[in-house]
Amino acid sequence: MLSFKLVYSDDYYLPIGQHVFPAEKYRRIRDRLLGAEAAGPEDFLTPELAKDEDILLVHKPDYVHKLKTGTLSTREEMQLEVPYSPELVQAFWLAAGGSILAARQALEDRVAISIGGGFHHAFSDRGEGFCMINDVAVAIRRMQHDGRIRRAMTVDCDVHQGNGTASIFAGMRIPTKPLPSWSAPVLGRSSVEQIPPAGRNDKSRENEADTTELDTPDSGDPQAAVRHAHDRDVFTISLHQQNNYPAWKPPSSIDVDLPDGIGDDDYLAWLDNALSSGLRQFEPELICYIAGADPYKHDQLGGLALTLEGLQRRDELVFKVARVRNIPVMVTYAGGYAHNLEDTVTIHCNTVLAAKNVFARPLA
Ligand SMILES: [Zn+2]
Repeated sequence: MLSFKLVYSDDYYLPIGQHVFPAEKYRRIRDRLLGAEAAGPEDFLTPELAKDEDILLVHKPDYVHKLKTGTLSTREEMQLEVPYSPELVQAFWLAAGGSILAARQALEDRVAISIGGGFHHAFSDRGEGFCMINDVAVAIRRMQHDGRIRRAMTVDCDVHQGNGTASIFAGMRIPTKPLPSWSAPVLGRSSVEQIPPAGRNDKSRENEADTTELDTPDSGDPQAAVRHAHDRDVFTISLHQQNNYPAWKPPSSIDVDLPDGIGDDDYLAWLDNALSSGLRQFEPELICYIAGADPYKHDQLGGLALTLEGLQRRDELVFKVARVRNIPVMVTYAGGYAHNLEDTVTIHCNTVLAAKNVFARPLA
């Protein structure tokens, strides 16, 4: 039995027919976890549909009305890039319900994973890029509305920028200065004790926290551009491939625009860097981790080069940072378009194993 819950429903399946988005992955993940005895039936919780009033905490009434009455314009439906149906609307309401349940459960158990969700391209007034409803934003607003939390941080590690999330939680950009940097090799294999590395925690560094140019790894690795913006009650971090959808990337609190083809070590250094910087500036009561599977080197829609192992180390890094700082973390899965669907399933199952590894062990 796991020390945390997995949120899942067969109805997470998106009825979109033949599509690059492998909607059957959710059931396959559940089946693989059970088959491998990585989880038992008792570890799963079944979500309920989000209520319309939950959806309306984030989305504009006009947009919700169009979804519920099937009156999107042709253009709006094309932007979604999935075929509209009332059943699809139900599936997105359920994804939002799953994220609400995962958020609530994470506040109880320190971590919870929804085997779905992460539809980060949905804006308050429209959907795009396979995303109709921003389930993570709905969950955050619901937790805030219920008085469970005041401040949340999104950590979006999908290969595509979280444009909808950035827009929904848009804050005011402020002028900033560079942070110090360190090299990728500093990061040992999943060694959270090194976060942040020695010398980065002193007061003079803290005073530099309002910065824009995040550090470049010192090792001559490919350069990534980092942009900062501030927010009020939700701090958004997105690590994504610069040369990829969406073309227009509204500012997150921290955006790490990664170059094409970046591999495990560089990616982990940037992630570590962004987490350290974000948590220096902001104290969330909940981390919402969007564990996209598409930074994988064999992804059809991604241009980064992470390995299966690197992606699991990524998950462990996020979990270790959250655990060390005692911040509850809820997980959603987002995209994954590997040439071989089984790889996408493996990446998502490994996220559960990573949580198991990190949260089952005593703190060193
Ligand atoms: Zn994606």
